[in-house]
Amino acid sequence: MNKQELELIRADFPILQEKIYNKDLIYFDNGATTQKPRAVVEKIEEGYYHLNANIHRGVHYLSQKATEAHEDARTTVAEFLHAANREEIIFTRGTTEAINLVASSFGEAFCKAGDEVVVSVMEHHSNIVPWQMLCERKGMKLRVIPMTENTELDLDAYRLLLNSRTRIVSITHVSNVLGTVNPVAEMIKIAHAQNIPVLIDGAQAVPHIPVNVVELDADFYVFSGHKIYGPTGIGVLYGKEKLLNQLPPYQGGGEMIATVTFEKTTYNELPFKFEAGTPDYIGSTALAEALRYVQNIGLENIASHEHELLEYGTQRLMEIEGMRIIGTAENKSAVISFLVGNIHPYDLGMLLDKLGIAVRTGHHCAQPLCDAMGIPGTVRASFALYNTKEEIDAFITALKRVVGMLQ
Ligand code: PLP
Repeated sequence: MNKQELELIRADFPILQEKIYNKDLIYFDNGATTQKPRAVVEKIEEGYYHLNANIHRGVHYLSQKATEAHEDARTTVAEFLHAANREEIIFTRGTTEAINLVASSFGEAFCKAGDEVVVSVMEHHSNIVPWQMLCERKGMKLRVIPMTENTELDLDAYRLLLNSRTRIVSITHVSNVLGTVNPVAEMIKIAHAQNIPVLIDGAQAVPHIPVNVVELDADFYVFSGHKIYGPTGIGVLYGKEKLLNQLPPYQGGGEMIATVTFEKTTYNELPFKFEAGTPDYIGSTALAEALRYVQNIGLENIASHEHELLEYGTQRLMEIEGMRIIGTAENKSAVISFLVGNIHPYDLGMLLDKLGIAVRTGHHCAQPLCDAMGIPGTVRASFALYNTKEEIDAFITALKRVVGMLQ
């Protein structure tokens, strides 16, 4: 991406012009949520101003138009993930709800006391707690894939964890703390050799890496709209049709039924079986707009730009005395977690904020990972397509100043 292209992209994101404490905003908290391009915000406005009516059950014009837009959005998501068919796309509130849905419905259909669920040490709490809750409910065991010294999952240990009691593997594609890109295709193959299905948490992957769920052979793949330039409150569960058809509904209500009597209810077909109640049809259309935005720029272009930022940022951070980069995998996404000497990450984050720089500090909802590494948390700079090397330069200057004050 050249300078001119980058400037055009930045102009699509009005918030980047904001002043924070009279300083230019430098937004390096993209792992938590990304900023929104004008096209996405305008889509939301257009939805509420011109297309708003409840979907699926209306004969009138607006309802039909809103239904069409929502179902077109489903097709856009299916194409984005290269799903075999659009009925395999379930809209949820986000990654968290998608994982809870699978843990609940898959757990109900396939799990019993003594069974095991395999997750990894680098999971977000969203991919730990729903499985823990299932384990408590059913008397099952949570098994954890450890990692090697260079913060990559230990595949030998992974192979040894799988056995006839393993019902499902649920792992992140990209770690939100370490940036590690896990070899999920290989890990899925290993699990499938023992007929074990795999859920991939793609929350930190889809904004940065082209994903093809069929090539990966993922059984479930989940992500959140707000981390890929879309709105909050909308996300996606992809599931293989055959598996989804075997799962009971997650929630009951309107939309998900075929017939209801007080004696018995029969359920709707996919995808509606898993979409009880009025869905976020404005959110889904805005998410589709975000995916089109990303596709117009091209995920390969985005990945290569972010990789440059990762390399440059890592190299510049190493200028700082006492710098310790947390996350040293060979294959890394544009996330840099770090600690400096004995300075608490919170103090660094607070002072950087006063200079207009937004980074995240703490355990990043991955407390077991921080515990395993014996650290209180990290400072995390996570980059997006609109970030620049100049911003990294300003960040390094600010960080040197802040470190000087705290040492
Ligand atoms: N999984 C990973 C790897 C994440 O980074 C996050 C959010 O930071 C989540 C899951 C949860 O996403 P959400 O809060 O959008 O449901």
